[in-house]
Parts: sequence; C-alpha cells; structure tokens
Amino acid sequence: MSDHTTSQTIREVASALKGRFRGEILRPGDPGFPEAKSIWNGMVARTPGIILRCDNANDVQAAVLISAGVGAPTAVRCGGHSLAGFSTCEGGVVIDLSRMRHIDIDESKRRARVGGGCLLGTIDTATQRVGLAYPAGVVSHTGAAGLILGGGTGWLTRMYGLSCDNVESVQLVCADGSLVLATERKNADLFWALRGGGGNFGVVTEFGLRLHPCTSVLLCTAWTLCDNVQPLLRHWRDNAPQLPDELKWNISLTVAPDSPEIPQQLRGCPAASESIVWFGDEERGHRYLDSILKVGDRVGVSRKMISFLTLQTMADADFPHGARYYTKSGYFYVLEDRSIDLMLAALAEIPSRKNQIELAFLGGAAGRIRASETAFGDRCAPFILNLLGHWSDPHDDAANITWVRNLFRALRPHMKKGVYVNFMSGDENDRVSEAYHDSWNRLLEVKKKYDPTNFFRLNQNITEFSTARTSAPYGSQSRDA
Ligand SMILES: Cc1cc2nc3c(=O)[nH]c(=O)nc-3n(C[C@H](O)[C@H](O)[C@H](O)COP(=O)(O)OP(=O)(O)OC[C@H]3O[C@@H](n4cnc5c(N)ncnc54)[C@H](O)[C@@H]3O)c2cc1C
Repeated sequence: MSDHTTSQTIREVASALKGRFRGEILRPGDPGFPEAKSIWNGMVARTPGIILRCDNANDVQAAVLISAGVGAPTAVRCGGHSLAGFSTCEGGVVIDLSRMRHIDIDESKRRARVGGGCLLGTIDTATQRVGLAYPAGVVSHTGAAGLILGGGTGWLTRMYGLSCDNVESVQLVCADGSLVLATERKNADLFWALRGGGGNFGVVTEFGLRLHPCTSVLLCTAWTLCDNVQPLLRHWRDNAPQLPDELKWNISLTVAPDSPEIPQQLRGCPAASESIVWFGDEERGHRYLDSILKVGDRVGVSRKMISFLTLQTMADADFPHGARYYTKSGYFYVLEDRSIDLMLAALAEIPSRKNQIELAFLGGAAGRIRASETAFGDRCAPFILNLLGHWSDPHDDAANITWVRNLFRALRPHMKKGVYVNFMSGDENDRVSEAYHDSWNRLLEVKKKYDPTNFFRLNQNITEFSTARTSAPYGSQSRDA
C-alpha cells in the first residue's frame, strides 16, 4: 500500500467513526500522540496514522468493522510489550485497549472478569485485595491480553498452570465485527485456539479468569560468580525436575549491577542471579532451600517472606520502557553440559551489562495438561531459554543482536524444536508453525473460519505462508514428545 493510499484510508476511517466511537481518537500532531504511539521496545519506532483508544466493546466493533472495510493495516495493543513490536504499525490503525481496564471479582467463586486492556499489575492489585492471585507473568507493566493469548508463564505456573490454562471465557470482536463469546461449550474451537494462538482471531474485550489463594511467598535470591556457575547450572538442571510444584527456581546469567545492594566483589562481574520462590508452608520451604543451597558457592544470599505484590513488581525496574531489546528463545528436553559451556562462553563476552541468558524450568501443573487441550505448543519441554539483548545506545544494536543470534545459533543443535510465541522477535516469521507443532493445521482451520481474510495479521501470524524454513537444524532433541 502506498503512503498516499494509507493516508486516504486513514481519513476514511476517521470520517466513518464520527458519531460511532465513544473513546479517544489520536492522530499525528494531536497532543498526547507521541506518548500514545510509543511501545515498550525502543527498537520499534513506527508512526501509525490513527490510534483508536476504545472505551467499550461497541467501540472495538466499530474500529474493526471500519478498518477492515477500508483495508487499513491494523495493530492491536494492550500493554504494548510485544517484543516483536506488533502492537503498532506504520501509517495504519492501532486499536488501543488501554481505557478498558475494568475488573470485576467474585471472591466466593474465585473468579474475575477483566477488561482486554488490563496490565498484569491492574489484575494483581485488584485480586490481592481479596487475597487471590492470577497466574501470570513476572513484570507488572506487561499487558495481560497479549500474555494470556500467547500462553503466559510466571511464578505460579508450576502450581496452577499457564495463564491461558486459567481462562474460562473470552469475549472478543472477530474480523466481521461480531461480538463472540468463546468457552469450553460455546465456540469451543475458538476457545481452544485463543489459549496459545495469540492475537490471530480477534480483539479480546474481556476475559473470565480463575483465581487462586496466595498472599505471600518465601523468596531466596543469590549470586554466583562466573567461575562457579558451571557446577551451579548442573545442580539446577539435575534437581529442578524432582522439586515440588510449590517451588519455582529461575536462573539468569548476566552482569551484576553496580548498585549498593549488590556485594562489592560482584559488582560489574559476569555472574548467575538466582531467584527461588516457595509457595506454601514456610518451614517446609526453608527445608527445600537448605538442600538447594548446600551445593554451590554463592554470594549475597537472602531469604525472606514477601508479599505476592512485592514478588510481582520486584523486576519492574529492570525492564524499562523505551530501551532497546532483542530476543531469541527456545526449549531443551535435556540441558547438556556442552550447552551450559556455550552459555558460559557467551557470558564472558557479553556486550551489554543488561543482557541476560534467562533459564527457567516449567513442568508442574502446566506440564500435566494434555497437549491437545489448548493451542499452546510446548508443555513437554521443561527447560525454557530466553536470550534477552537489552541496551540503550543505537550504536550498540549490531553488537547485541549479533551476540544473541550467535549464541542461539550455537545452542540450536542441542535444543528441542519449538518456541514460545510471546518470546519471539519480529524477524522470526518462519518459526511460527514451529511454535505449534501438531496443532498447526487445526489452528489454520480456526483462523480460516474466524478471520478468513487475515485481517488480524500484525502478530505471530497463523497463515499457510508461515512455514518453517529453519536455516540452522535442530539436533537430537528435535523429536516431539
Ligand atoms: C518486560 C517484559 C516481561 C515479560 N514477562 C513475561 C512473563 O513473565 N511471562 C510471559 O509469558 N511473557 C512475558 N513477556 C512476554 C509477553 O507475554 C509478550 O510480550 C506479550 O505480547 C505482552 O502482551 P501486551 O499485551 O503487553 O502486548 P501488546 O504489545 O500490547 O500486544 C501484543 C500482541 O498481543 C495481541 N493483543 C494484545 N492485546 C490484545 C487484545 N485485547 N485482543 C487481542 N489481541 C491482543 C496482539 O496480537 C498484539 O500484537 C514479557 C514481556 C516483556 C516486555
């Protein structure tokens, strides 16, 4: 589409919305537009032709019908945290849900209805008032809709499953403008696809969520200097599969920050940062921590009970809006010694102090749900790897992107085929089918039924054109379990 066609198209959208839209409409030049157009990943600087901040489902219906009618490229935005930058577009329409952050909690039934624009922090704050929690991600300024639709992992995943496993209903506006309810009984094919299939099927206006009791947790944090990280990772790899669901043990390889709360000898050094969270009886938790901490040479070990809200916000400042980010992600069945050694070699050459090699072990409740129950792709590959490049200066783009890509390329032969769609970059279209394994054809069918023209295409797109063309092959772990 040429620039001229786009601006003409946007004028048509604006004119057709007159009298049909209650929310806020922002165009380039309007006060507030520069803030409204920016998204979390500073690598993505696009200027949409119009931002439609919807107030309610009627507004979303009008936005979809009109944008689809004139063929405007359209992005959908909740929290704007798409690593790939899909929540904006150049010259097109952004359907922005940030004014739809209503939450209605039924404490006795442990259920909540939440608006399609809620952030994780919006949900946590409201549910904690009644001592309940929703299993979701670890940074409170992340949007709930994007996270839930792609799957959603976090501290409570081993206890209660993925975020999408705790969804009971989804109300959404489909590509033809209709408002549709999807549950286990109603539009069950769509309900299946929405739990893992991302934003491919429509704009979610409201989720019905299942909540769980949780107000405080036992948190242990510790650092290990680079020279001692190899035995630590082996210890983690060998023990994580045996641990109870109540325990979540994450490790991140990075450079220890130069800040007063970090022990002097660590500051500025490549190291492993551990966060071990226990949900349950405190004394039992301490016994597990004792046995985990027996092996290793850690510094700055801290153990304390903290509130669930503190847990959910403690990483917020580490991932600021507007910095530059690039990711590659994947899974291991088995974390081999040579993979650990490759990670340690990359850690020694890390080009930005904020880059991270994030490792988590899934399993638990999320791993016990049958693969066919939802569209989420990888329940049987417990070790999750996320390589996160994070820096500030555009001059450092090449060094950081290359570091992420090279490490991923080196690790790939030792990995399992598959990827979590929410951790993918914008240049990985050829991995979308890989993310869904055996569910791919079923997803294509549902997509064809609910969005036959692929109007919702600014996402990790489910189309027959997204076929796997992987340049570097997977090795022995490439079988699907
Ligand atoms: C700092 C940070 C921390 C993260 N932590 C975690 C984590 O702990 N666990 C985890 O699983 N993931 C995590 N992620 C990844 C996260 O799940 C994805 O980035 C997700 O897309 C963010 O959702 P969002 O609503 O903020 O995104 P947006 O950028 O607003 O939207 C991303 C995509 O989601 C779809 N979408 C958004 N809203 C709607 C809607 N209402 N209806 C239909 N489609 C919609 C659209 O396709 C859109 O392109 C994290 C990301 C960041 C940046």
